[in-house]
Amino acid sequence: MALTPELEAAFNDQVTLELASAHQYLALSAWLEGEGLPGMAHWMRLQAGEENEHAMKFYRFLLDRGVGVVLGPLPQPTSEFDSVVDVFRASLAAEHRVTAAINNLYAMATDARDFASFPLLDWFVDEQVEEEATVQQIIDDLERTADNGHGLLMLDRELGGRSAGEDD
Ligand code: MG
Repeated sequence: MALTPELEAAFNDQVTLELASAHQYLALSAWLEGEGLPGMAHWMRLQAGEENEHAMKFYRFLLDRGVGVVLGPLPQPTSEFDSVVDVFRASLAAEHRVTAAINNLYAMATDARDFASFPLLDWFVDEQVEEEATVQQIIDDLERTADNGHGLLMLDRELGGRSAGEDD
């Protein structure tokens, strides 16, 4: 069954949103590296890679549904921050925007009775719960360390230990 034109446009927008998210995470990574926090920079770089994979899931879905992919322009990411915790707060705010977009897609697919969209969207609903929880935990840890250099170093080492395919 063909996607409705509305869903087609919304899924296409989602590809661009995920790519914009990857772009933003790369900017966060660069900022952290500049602050001498290579572990956190590594974590953000892996996050950028995951967002690219998310974009490709929607890209593949559109092509499998016989729909053309139309990529939109990427906004310039924010690249200046006042503190490390602000970087992770920006990341959480971006994840909230992605979650809202996924929820909107889910509502649209439900209205259109486009059941073929559900497995993909279910995967993303779970993924967003995990993403938000992971980033929130890092923010909590950072708030706990406050201006304690040792705590920041420990957290940088911990996040630097993340390998591809795991979230924390
Ligand atoms: Mg994503």
